[in-house]
Amino acid sequence: MSENARRKPPYEAAEIEVERQAAWTGRGDYDAPAPPPDGEHGVYVKSSSPFTSGNLHMGHVRDYTIGDAYARFQRARGRSVLMGFGFDAFGLPAELAAIERQVPAAEWVVQSGERMLGQMQRLGYSFDYDRVFYSSDESQYRWSQWLFLTLYDMGLIYLDDATVDWCDTCQTTLATIQVEEGGTCWRCHNEVRLIRQPTWFLKITPYLEENDANMAKLEAQPWDDMALATQRYILGRADGVELDLDGPGGPLTVFTPHADAAGLATFVLLSPRHPDVEAWIGDEGVREELEQLRSGGWERSARDAGAVPVIDTGRSIPGPAGKDLPVLISPLVDARFGPTATLAVPAVDEADRDVAERFPGRIEAPAPPADDAPPPSAPAEGARQAKRYRANDFSISRQRSWGTPIPIVHCPDHGPVPVPEADLPVVLPRDLVATGEGNPLAERPDFVDTVCPICGKPAKRETDTLDCHFDALFLWVPATVPPEDRATQMFTHPESRKWLPAERQVAGGDSGGFVFDQRIVTKALRDHGEFDYMPDGEPFAGVLFHEMVIADGRKMSKHLGNVVDPDALVAEFGADTVRVAVLWAAGPAKTLNWSDAAIRFANKFLRSFWTYAHDRFVELEGAKHDPEKAAETEKQREKLRGWCENGLNRVAEDTAELQLHKSIRNLTRLFERIQQFEKQLKKRGQLDRVDAEALVAAILLLARALQPFAPHAAEQILINSGRFTSDDLPGVWPDATTIPVAVDDAFSGASF
Ligand SMILES: [Zn+2]
Ligand SMILES: [Zn+2]
Repeated sequence: MSENARRKPPYEAAEIEVERQAAWTGRGDYDAPAPPPDGEHGVYVKSSSPFTSGNLHMGHVRDYTIGDAYARFQRARGRSVLMGFGFDAFGLPAELAAIERQVPAAEWVVQSGERMLGQMQRLGYSFDYDRVFYSSDESQYRWSQWLFLTLYDMGLIYLDDATVDWCDTCQTTLATIQVEEGGTCWRCHNEVRLIRQPTWFLKITPYLEENDANMAKLEAQPWDDMALATQRYILGRADGVELDLDGPGGPLTVFTPHADAAGLATFVLLSPRHPDVEAWIGDEGVREELEQLRSGGWERSARDAGAVPVIDTGRSIPGPAGKDLPVLISPLVDARFGPTATLAVPAVDEADRDVAERFPGRIEAPAPPADDAPPPSAPAEGARQAKRYRANDFSISRQRSWGTPIPIVHCPDHGPVPVPEADLPVVLPRDLVATGEGNPLAERPDFVDTVCPICGKPAKRETDTLDCHFDALFLWVPATVPPEDRATQMFTHPESRKWLPAERQVAGGDSGGFVFDQRIVTKALRDHGEFDYMPDGEPFAGVLFHEMVIADGRKMSKHLGNVVDPDALVAEFGADTVRVAVLWAAGPAKTLNWSDAAIRFANKFLRSFWTYAHDRFVELEGAKHDPEKAAETEKQREKLRGWCENGLNRVAEDTAELQLHKSIRNLTRLFERIQQFEKQLKKRGQLDRVDAEALVAAILLLARALQPFAPHAAEQILINSGRFTSDDLPGVWPDATTIPVAVDDAFSGASF
């Protein structure tokens, strides 16, 4: 190898990256640091927990690149950073993949997870890989079961009937996505019907008000607009008034969002889940209609985009203006205001008018006011301010085999009995192979047959499993607990207090429901004692939601043939190029429409910076020094230092706010400035040694600032400068005073 090739190495991304990654592992860069000392809080970055699909897609790459850049930036700023990661490994996607391949789901999950972890390491993500977990591990789902029992004990979990799709041929319940258009089974294509099935529910209503009240606090924290908007949307708060009407079984409290027009109400609409609904069912016909509606008639017709059902009870109630108001029942109420009773005002409310028009003669439906007329006004006497939330309890159990077993035993004498905590975990048979037929758990006597914890008589285990949404309620916790302590202290480990609440949750824009319910469960466990150190019950100090990655203006799909494969990109251009491209192409709040332009831009930037830097390292060695000449260019060096200071401040600000597309833009601008400095000086001839020093100092500063984004190339440039060895290179955020201005600075031996 010639001297020149050694000093000016080509940019071979694959080689450089694999070598750097080995060095990081060797240095232990990403092992979870010791928690920070008293009085300081660590930086815990919680990235998405993906399903074990077997393949990272570009959405994951976006997610983890954002989180990793932030984690590396905060480490460079001297903070203790934990970057946690785990798989949401239970659930339908893994079960379906396992059915297709006829292997136990447990096997498929481990294979897929290992492959994905390999992809993540190749992309240079600085997770603590020793803390990786799978929600389907016994040691992990033991705590899903503990959480179930704890919430059950607190009265926050209950059993009720729910409507599910059922295939008579396959003798199994189906998830919504397993029902084909036209209502047939995905497996046998026979018609599917709806049945009523006892189902476990999580009660979230006790914490809705607090989730609402905390919104003002979260707004002042680093929660981005999309994350806040999803929380508000899911909560579905409606403000208005309520008043008590004189019902047959006592007062009926009715709500309307139209405070100014409550006096114009012409009927009352009840949720089918209103606690007093029974009192309004006079005749058998109405009862039958309600039964039909409850057993899923509505869900089925809604799927066909039919009209929302409305049942006329035939009864009336005296309204606020003295007139009798017909009482009707419809799930429309739930969809707007939760399981309540509403005062319907067709004069000002379009949805109410639509209902009224379906009952001509029975309900008055005044014509809507003309466009330029003021809305009619008639407040009701005695109305008081009130609010309602649309968010409601949700089902947490599924008739699927790949999920956390529910720790409940059904005893003929005692009914459902919780499994004692000492007997956890209730183990899911590891060799279970689902076929898509029947309920594989129910067919395993070794699982089903047990004894009642109270009376010791033969009893049956619950064969439903928990929906993976339930496991996800605490997927942000395990990474904060050292793996060896998880068996005993998952929710009580002292180190968790140093990491929680998490400084940043980074997730896709469709994760609002997860975050909402994680906020609920944090409040429940605060009240139960485990999370007493999070007094406001908020698990995330900051949340960033990012939009998805599409291609050719459409969602990526195999069917459209527009899937972008991260592995192929990494193989061709290297991880650093892919990382910079995905950050640069769009701000997190925007959908990223993938194009080769981003890859070309990123690769060109990294290549040209690489070449530029190495050329200047060589030139510096040949530079001559003339004190008088050097003194003349002091102003230019001062300017360079100013540009660097400015550029760094901007990049730091953007990065702290996770506006990483701006960080990249400002880094490329700084590179242009550095080149401009050199060009101007070269008009005067060769660079003086002091100017060459300043130029190299600026290049090293830029490489330092680039470390969070393109960590491999940046670190290799620093090593190749000859001023650092691999061992002293974990990122340190640079400082522009390393750029010499006065002639003496350049020879002071100051290092950076
Ligand atoms: Zn079927
Ligand atoms: Zn019993």
